[in-house]
Amino acid sequence: MNVADSELVAGILSDAGYKKAESIDSADIIIFNSCTVRQHAEDRVLGRITAEATRKEQNTNILIGLIGCVAQRKGEELLNEIKSLDFVVGTDQYRHLPEIISSCMNSKEHLFADVQNNIENYENIYPVRNKGVNAFVTIMRGCNNFCSYCIVPYVRGRERSRDHKEILFEIEQAGNDGFKDITLLGQNVNSYNDGKYTFPELLKETARVSSIERLRFVTSHPKDISDEVIKVMAAEPKLCEHLHLPMQSGSDRILEKMNRKYTPQKYLNIIHKLRNAMPNIAITTDVMVGFPGETEDDFIQTYNLMKEIRFDYAFMFKYSPREGTAAAEYPDQIQEEIRLARLQKLIDQQERITYEKYQEQIGRRVQVYVEKTSKKSDKELSGRTRDNKIAVFPSDSKLIGTFVDIEIVDATSWTLKGKQIQHT
Ligand code: SF4
Repeated sequence: MNVADSELVAGILSDAGYKKAESIDSADIIIFNSCTVRQHAEDRVLGRITAEATRKEQNTNILIGLIGCVAQRKGEELLNEIKSLDFVVGTDQYRHLPEIISSCMNSKEHLFADVQNNIENYENIYPVRNKGVNAFVTIMRGCNNFCSYCIVPYVRGRERSRDHKEILFEIEQAGNDGFKDITLLGQNVNSYNDGKYTFPELLKETARVSSIERLRFVTSHPKDISDEVIKVMAAEPKLCEHLHLPMQSGSDRILEKMNRKYTPQKYLNIIHKLRNAMPNIAITTDVMVGFPGETEDDFIQTYNLMKEIRFDYAFMFKYSPREGTAAAEYPDQIQEEIRLARLQKLIDQQERITYEKYQEQIGRRVQVYVEKTSKKSDKELSGRTRDNKIAVFPSDSKLIGTFVDIEIVDATSWTLKGKQIQHT
């Protein structure tokens, strides 16, 4: 979401006449886009800003700004906390960045704008995308779910869906600009509804945009993913065989305390439906350990459910209390050592499963969308399979941006290795 928002901000600033600097050393304005979903992310961005203070000492004309969820959450207080900051702009106020920047330049004032309006959808702004072959297209903003651990609804506001016509136009354009693999984005894409289209309807329509080749979407909420979405995924050839579906916990009791509104059994049923409809689908997830009140038995239920499902990959976290959320006030917080030990146990299991899943790919023939030369060797290319795995194979850089069929000949836990299939 933040990558997409950074590209959106680049679009707003480029319309106002600004140009992206080649590097931080040549920039006159440095803007940090921030995430507050975990304390670690927040600490890192504030540390980075403090570390850049010396640039301002050397050149007093440089402006430093903070945007994103930390800016939204902390607002004006950051200007007092970090003296090198010139402006702080929250998630609904990016349209005002050009005026804010020019005021800071002219008056040397320190400014903030953090009013949340719950309607801003940034229509009619075309993002300036980073170089590459994959593009993110935001279809909705905000969230109404209030999972008890999550700060997002407080900093991103209520759900609002972009007009489907704008979305289709943006996807068509991105495809024409060479981005053939599109990911639809939103905090909870399944509840998309612009008054005319529901999510499965939008999905069907976007999967038929002629200028693109692949379509994905993130993030889905297990309580909202419908049979209709699964049907569209299975039927539309451009929709890729990959779904990211956050599980969070395998304990009924903990899911209820998290306010997730599904049970482990319901989650498992969705997995079965997905695999019945698309036998080769890759499923990835987010899981949290050490949520307040999580007992050893709750944790074992999570561990066992992950063992049963065998995700292709999982993002695993220990619970991080976020001030202002319901769970941060729960009295039964779990000790750090226990959280860490549970997290390590889960990671060890998932690493084994991911390795096995990648080994199972050996011998398969898959299509790769080539993104770049591989980091390890300029004689190898790297790209993504339809089920979102990184694959490398020896070939020539002129294939970057094209679709290539390969046969998988080897695999590590992170990467598939292949050889190009020569079509006769
Ligand atoms: S669905 Fe829950 S976890 Fe996801 S953004 Fe909304 S409140 Fe946060």
